[in-house]
Order: sequence, then structure tokens, then C-alpha cells
Amino acid sequence: MSIVQRNSEVNKWYLPGIIGGLFITGKHLLTNLLNRKKMPTLNYPEEKHEYSPRFKGNHVLTVKKDGSLRCTACMLCATNCPAQCITIVAAEHDDPNVEKYPINYEIDMLRCIFCGFCEEACPVDAIRMGPEWQTPGLSGSTFSYDIQRLAYRPQLKGGIQTYVDDEERHKAGI
Ligand code: SF4
Ligand code: SF4
Repeated sequence: MSIVQRNSEVNKWYLPGIIGGLFITGKHLLTNLLNRKKMPTLNYPEEKHEYSPRFKGNHVLTVKKDGSLRCTACMLCATNCPAQCITIVAAEHDDPNVEKYPINYEIDMLRCIFCGFCEEACPVDAIRMGPEWQTPGLSGSTFSYDIQRLAYRPQLKGGIQTYVDDEERHKAGI
């Protein structure tokens, strides 16, 4: 005996499914129109949703007091990145107290899956993920974030913390 069920004439035309679907859509349309204040919608882009400061959005390379990068080019973030979208080129630093620093640090945002593993892996709090979530761009190259974009983009002056104080970190036991 075949286990394939033959459709009846009615089901063959998908009519019950189509009518059921239209009924559910109509029901939600009427419910929302009659309760507009309860509709969870925003008129984007004029109205934007404010995510929590803990939201894991665009990356930020944090800086020291003098504005230089905290990153020591240890490669832990790049090694830990499951999407392999971080590229770092390290160089020796002039200061004998600083072993290495990145002369190039790039994240391919089109490959990034915003998992936060880079932030977790960093031993010196040099990379954080901030509350920015809009990443528009007109070409692929605009999604390759370099040091200038990661640490010094103008949007960071709008309240995203980029400077990390070592004394405060030690006091907090981080
Ligand atoms: S968030 Fe995840 S995928 Fe994106 S750069 Fe960091 S480790 Fe890689
Ligand atoms: S961001 Fe942190 S983990 Fe990545 S290379 Fe720099 S110091 Fe190492």
C-alpha cells in the first residue's frame, strides 16, 4: 500500500489553506487597526529603536589616555574569531615597554557574525562591541573597517566609551 496520500479535489487547489491564511491576515489587520496605540511598530528611519548599552553592535578599538590604541597585536581575537574576519599586521613599538602594536587592524563586517568572541578573547580590553547597529554602505569596501574607523570614527564622539582607564579597571578587579 502506498503511503503517499492523494489530495482531494478541494485540497488540490489549496483553497482551505488560502482562505485560512487570508482570514488570519485579515484578523490581525483589523486588530491592529482598531488598537493602533498597541501596535509595536516604529516609523523607521525617522524613529529608531534604542538598544541597551550592552547591545553587541559595531566594534570599537579602545584607546589609552594619550589616544593611542590599547591593542598589543597579540592576535588572540583573530585566532578566536570563528568567521576569520579579523586581519592584524603587527609591528615593533618604539617604546621598549610596549612589545607590539598593530600597524593594520581590519574587520570584514560582511563576514562578522557579531558573536562577541573577539571581545571575550582580548586580555587587555582593547576591543569592545558597542550599541551601534546600523551598518549602511554602498559598496563592499565600506564594510571593511580599518583602525581609523574602528577607533576614531566620528560617531564614537556621540557617547560611546572608547577610552579605557587601567587604574579604574584594577580598582574594579577586572
Ligand atoms: S564578533 Fe565574532 S565574528 Fe565578529 S569579529 Fe568578533 S569574533 Fe569575529
Ligand atoms: S584586540 Fe585584544 S585580542 Fe585582539 S590583537 Fe589586540 S590585544 Fe590582542
